[in-house]
Amino acid sequence: MEIQVVENVLKLNDELAALNRQNLHAAGVVSIDVMGAPGCGKTALIEATIPLLAPIRVGVIVGDLATQRDAQRLARATSQVVQINTGKTCHLEAHHVRQAIGRLDLRQLDLLFIENVGNLICPVGFDLGQDVKVGVFAVTDGDDKAAKHPYIVTESQVLILTKIDLIPHVPFDLDLFRADVKRLNPDVTLLELSSTSGQGMQAWVEWVKSRMICASGHAESLPG
Ligand code: MG
Ligand code: ZN
Repeated sequence: MEIQVVENVLKLNDELAALNRQNLHAAGVVSIDVMGAPGCGKTALIEATIPLLAPIRVGVIVGDLATQRDAQRLARATSQVVQINTGKTCHLEAHHVRQAIGRLDLRQLDLLFIENVGNLICPVGFDLGQDVKVGVFAVTDGDDKAAKHPYIVTESQVLILTKIDLIPHVPFDLDLFRADVKRLNPDVTLLELSSTSGQGMQAWVEWVKSRMICASGHAESLPG
């Protein structure tokens, strides 16, 4: 009985996710689900990325249990920001994204970041209709997080190790972290960067641009 309920919930989520994907693709919007623990630097990454992507038009859906704080921060980088407050739900679901998409002008967007609720576990299990899942780890959270949270590693197309500028100051075995990532997902792109110093940001921006070209199928359809 309980298994049946869980299966139905996931089935409904998948149906809404498919609808989101259809709506976003119809509007020519590429979407990236950004997942990671609280404080790993998801918002900072998106904030730093938006100006580097100009003239690509970027919108953000940002999920948190409470407050509009991330949306207020991101509003300085783009006018198209929607904050979702999930209350006691520790991840975004497709219906949250569906509601938020309704408040965006998709025709004025090329790219949509969906910042998931800070959590390394259940965001991985919910399809939102995104094109790409990106997992974020921070050097300040310890070098064991990839090994301890294998599903975010195996389900992401890109993994980002943030706060790389702090590596001289924290105990973090970079070789161990890289080896864990490689073992769990040999095909994943691992990018090491700092949103605050700017180190490694260009490689990330190039990756996003190449993914957008790949999605559109025509390089010339990208603005700029
Ligand atoms: Mg945030
Ligand atoms: Zn959850």
